[in-house]
Amino acid sequence: MNTPELQTSFDQQHIWHPYSAIPPSIAPLLVKKAQGCELILDDDTHLIDGMASWWSVIHGYNHPLLNQALKSQIDKVSHVMFGGLTHEPAIELSRLLIDITAPELDKVFLADSGSVAVEVAMKMAVQYWRSLPEPKPDKSKFLTIKQGYHGDTLNAMSVCDPDNGIHQVFGDWVPKQFFARSPGARSKTEWQNTQFDEQDIEDFKHQIQTHHSQIAAVILEPICQGAGGMRFYSPEFLRQVKKLCEQYDVLLILDEIATGFGRTGELFAYEHTGNKENMIAPDILCLGKALTGGYMSLAAVLTTDKISSTISNGQVKAFMHGPTFMGNPLACAVAIESIKLLINSPWKKNVSMIETQLHNELSPLRDNNQVVDVRVLGAIGVVEMKQDIDMAKTTAFFKNKGVWLRPFGKLLYLMPPYIISASQLTQITRAMGEFVETKFIS
Ligand code: PMP
Repeated sequence: MNTPELQTSFDQQHIWHPYSAIPPSIAPLLVKKAQGCELILDDDTHLIDGMASWWSVIHGYNHPLLNQALKSQIDKVSHVMFGGLTHEPAIELSRLLIDITAPELDKVFLADSGSVAVEVAMKMAVQYWRSLPEPKPDKSKFLTIKQGYHGDTLNAMSVCDPDNGIHQVFGDWVPKQFFARSPGARSKTEWQNTQFDEQDIEDFKHQIQTHHSQIAAVILEPICQGAGGMRFYSPEFLRQVKKLCEQYDVLLILDEIATGFGRTGELFAYEHTGNKENMIAPDILCLGKALTGGYMSLAAVLTTDKISSTISNGQVKAFMHGPTFMGNPLACAVAIESIKLLINSPWKKNVSMIETQLHNELSPLRDNNQVVDVRVLGAIGVVEMKQDIDMAKTTAFFKNKGVWLRPFGKLLYLMPPYIISASQLTQITRAMGEFVETKFIS
């Protein structure tokens, strides 16, 4: 049972992978170890990781300090129920999260994964309106923009792009929400050097004006829309959204599950909207992915005293959510270490160097007639092709180049660990350039 061939064959016959069939159309690669920025396969192939395991592994793999944090915690307590009990890792982590996020966010709910955090945030918004002295149960819908992604559970799916595969399959089963046109995909240099296109906010304005009495909250991925299209938009859009939310008495949920912890060049993407004095802040903030440096599944939902006290004094006097593994001590311990590692490192300089290098090395690909756009923000680089990319050929192509990338649809993109070296990054961008030349499109 332990030859690599038997293992992969068992895997293909019995195990679901994300968004795949059994057996899958492309056999997954068998990873036996991961170190720094490299994945090491069963046949000893070393691949430079351009994906940071979907935004999460910001410090690289097998980090001695993160390993040690887990080893120390495991000898104390690996898990206890959070109902009626508490522990130092949850307290320390919550204290840290309150310190590094906007001042008004001072209440923390520790959830198990990003999708669950989004469910929790949405329930929190709905329960808030139902807990007011004069309850507003009609405020139970959500407004978002198209081409977003917020996770795979039921309510999270309901605010994902309405035209993507999830909605095609689940159709009417998914709760109906309001969708506004998404703002044009703009690079950072574009939003810094050109005036905001007021057309971009028009549809959103119309939706909130028309439906605010039914809307509990607006939910958005700030500045960077991830899995729904890898699009960036101007901070001015977010500033105007915040104003409209205040004007129409609608809460604002920011989903920073992908963008949080430095990925876009600011610690949190909402910080692009201004300096300490005038940046906008959400009423509810979702964090996940890089929270534990990609070691374990953990998410956090932060909110304000206004929301928590309203819920706590409402009809049922409690927020109605409480998962078994809430505040898992191992996950909290590694999250504390990961956050300390990040804020005590020159992460901003590292992300900015990655941004400059991606800009320099990917921009020339715009000249290829198969390429629609090249976008860079922080440690995220995106090459949008004219046609869908053939995944099977692509995986083999990049493996041959010693690189791990996983495109989707027309998008070839990377978001590497922040510790990637300049030469490792060049190896990835060079492979992307060669890929674009080969036109591996389906
Ligand atoms: N929100 C955003 C913005 C995400 O990118 C993701 C994951 N890709 C999620 C929510 C869901 O997180 P998880 O996969 O941990 O459930």
